[in-house]
Amino acid sequence: MVGGGGVAFRKVQGLLGERAEVTVVAPKVVEGLKRLAREGRIELNARPYADGEVVGYALVFAATDSRDVNRRVFEDASAAGIWVNVADDPELCTFHLPAVIRRGPLHLAIASGGKAPFAVRRLRRLLERRIGPEWGEWMAAAARFRERVRGLGVGGACREKLFDGFFEATVDGASLQGRVLPRGAEDRLLEGSPRHEPECTAELAETRAVSVFARVGLVSLVGAGPGNPGLLTLRGYRRLMAADAVVYDRLAAPALPCDLPGSVELHCVGKTAGRHPVPQEEINAMLIRLAREGKRVVRLKGGDPYVFGRGGEEAEVLAAAGVPFEVVPGVTSGIAAPAWAGIPVTHRREAVRVTLLTAHECAKSGGPQVRWDLLAQDEASTIVGYMGVTALPGVVERLLAGGMAPTMPAAMVERGTTGAQKSVVTELAKLPEAVRREGIRPPALFVIGPTVRHAERLNWTMQCPLVGRRVLIADDDGRCTEPLELAGAEVVSVRLPLGEAARVVVGALPLTDVVVASREQVEALDVLRGGPGWEGRVTVWCSGEDAWGRASELGWTGLQRLERGNEDGDLVERMAAVPLRAV
Ligand code: SAH
Repeated sequence: MVGGGGVAFRKVQGLLGERAEVTVVAPKVVEGLKRLAREGRIELNARPYADGEVVGYALVFAATDSRDVNRRVFEDASAAGIWVNVADDPELCTFHLPAVIRRGPLHLAIASGGKAPFAVRRLRRLLERRIGPEWGEWMAAAARFRERVRGLGVGGACREKLFDGFFEATVDGASLQGRVLPRGAEDRLLEGSPRHEPECTAELAETRAVSVFARVGLVSLVGAGPGNPGLLTLRGYRRLMAADAVVYDRLAAPALPCDLPGSVELHCVGKTAGRHPVPQEEINAMLIRLAREGKRVVRLKGGDPYVFGRGGEEAEVLAAAGVPFEVVPGVTSGIAAPAWAGIPVTHRREAVRVTLLTAHECAKSGGPQVRWDLLAQDEASTIVGYMGVTALPGVVERLLAGGMAPTMPAAMVERGTTGAQKSVVTELAKLPEAVRREGIRPPALFVIGPTVRHAERLNWTMQCPLVGRRVLIADDDGRCTEPLELAGAEVVSVRLPLGEAARVVVGALPLTDVVVASREQVEALDVLRGGPGWEGRVTVWCSGEDAWGRASELGWTGLQRLERGNEDGDLVERMAAVPLRAV
């Protein structure tokens, strides 16, 4: 490496990563290179380049700021028949280094022939995010599979068919997702492989691939979090994006990714307007059927699937049916909703225990009863009660009867973490009346315990200027979404044209604001007006005359103008100044 600046340093780091032995020649070098030299990881010749000294090296790089020196290095190397690369000078290169993305044994190289390194870097960043770690496992599985197929000693055409079968069963070309077959499924791909019949017909191999594919369906029980779209886990998001079918509850609807591919089957099994919820037995049967069709199924449930969500029952049923499943935990509302209302569920010296309970299930079904008498005695603890609106008066009565102080801090939080959150904070004895007065409705949970008193000071969401706002925005590059979220709004960010998932999300809770930036956006969003989520009175923020003009023509109301080009700076302030429009 001739040169000692930042570019040289980065290249040297890359080369060391490949276990190259590196010599650097430069009169002055950056601190990083000095450090590598001190650590003995490179050889450093702190002097100018001497003519002809490239001879004897396997590869030569030049990254000095003198085109003259770079050219001398290039000429010396070319004359000696050594590959040479001059940074940012494609003409002085006999080879280029691609940017490489690695996932285990899988290496993806991106290059522009030295013509546009900036584009390569950005593309690499993009792909780094898109290509998940499963691709490394996938490539390792492919290598194993190849070995096994070789071991069978079958003929060429048959071998290719088996490879096709592996590829089809493990790669979804449309969403660029790779999967590793569960143990046993790979065996079945090879099972009955005609060892003694090298002329295996194409049809036979094809049928086998299809039938194996049909057996590798998987159900992921995914927790959707408490309702705020940002509180879905990364793993849950990836499962959703790779799914063939999603079976979701009403509570989980707001957390569906708006950019879910249109090819994903969506099955709502929760109660929606005018429809009863699908009975549990039918949900179980549906999960088994979809999985047996070979589909990747996501069972999306509010909060965490194993916390009062019947996730345990569904897992039992899947296990009994021999359907492969996994659990992707979620952020449970019992912890998230209090946090959004300013309540830490534990606090040093105040609460050493959290009890997640439901007052609802046991009362009606003759199942195990909550020991209110014991809970009432344990004042250094927090009680979080799910499905607690109707049961609340009875709960308070029992806790008081068990000896809990009537002044124990207590709260109820409805639709925590969403733009529709409501909460009351008071004392135990006063909670039922406060809940009635404030019109708190399910889904809501109660929180009882000494840490509830912190809500007054820690209620950070109430201090955000856009608390209570649920904002729809289309095709935003993040410029508006982030400031809105930081200001406390729940942001529904959709891509146009609208997919089904985006419609479900919009309809899951009432919108308060819509941001539009073009005539096309107004036209595309018009179908939502008056439908679920957009039934009430919504303020529409128009950036640019086009959007304003088209919205007026179509009879949209509640219009506000935004200054073009300054939407992100302007939006939060302007929105905060316009109070919520009464529904
Ligand atoms: N598995 C879910 C709970 C399902 S039971 C979880 O882990 O959160 C449904 C109950 O959860 C509701 O009746 C309500 O008590 C509570 N709940 C769910 N989402 C909520 C939210 N955003 N705010 C407050 N309570 C919520």
